[in-house]
Amino acid sequence: MPAIVSQVLSGLFWIVYGSFFEWYWHRFWMHEVRKPTEAFRGHAIVHHGLYKGDDRYFVPKEEHAQHILLKPYALPAIVVVHLPIVFFIEKHIPHTAIGGITFTILYFVIYEYMHWNMHVPRDHFVERFKWFHFLRQHHKLHHQHPQKNFCVLLPLADAVCGTMVTDQSLERRRIEREAEIAAGKLQRAGKNIKKSELAKPAPNSIAGKIAAFRADRAAKRHAWQIATVKHMVANTTMPERKLKQPQK
Ligand SMILES: [Zn+2]
Ligand SMILES: [Zn+2]
Repeated sequence: MPAIVSQVLSGLFWIVYGSFFEWYWHRFWMHEVRKPTEAFRGHAIVHHGLYKGDDRYFVPKEEHAQHILLKPYALPAIVVVHLPIVFFIEKHIPHTAIGGITFTILYFVIYEYMHWNMHVPRDHFVERFKWFHFLRQHHKLHHQHPQKNFCVLLPLADAVCGTMVTDQSLERRRIEREAEIAAGKLQRAGKNIKKSELAKPAPNSIAGKIAAFRADRAAKRHAWQIATVKHMVANTTMPERKLKQPQK
């Protein structure tokens, strides 16, 4: 296979991987409190705190919007972390490393560019395209439902992992829910939960002890997360936003 073809194929592989990587990073490091807590503070508290899922999603272009972009060390960190994998693949499949690194950097740069333009309407050329408006709305819905639509640039991982919502799917879900409530299905679902609780292992069995240990660890982790978030919120000075949002 010509070297250029394997470099491009490698690049395409890293683009697909990029979708899953942004999904994973966004879901488990930006929306879950973990040490180091900087990613959570910068994203869940500051970015989501400033740019809500309503008109506040949009930032006037004159406003200093540095809270949209990731930290300057994010790109070097991503490249360095993936270099061993890139070189491991190169060793077994030659002519793949340059494509892998180039497309990873491209993915990151386009991610930043798109995320910026999603929040800052300024009649930029990219805003002419329908796919851009789809992605902008996809991300706006994430700002309304922070446990959905984790992908900013390529929603492939959202589609695969079942975290994708659209205006249409939310509307369908709302109608279904109303129908379920009307049909009394939620009550029946409640009874099913009680049945599954009966299937818990006996407290003195090994399975019971493991379950108790895991529940205790989860409770401690949850308490730590709540305390950390409270501490972070109390100690984070939110930058002021201008009152007038651009109309889009
Ligand atoms: Zn955003
Ligand atoms: Zn988010």
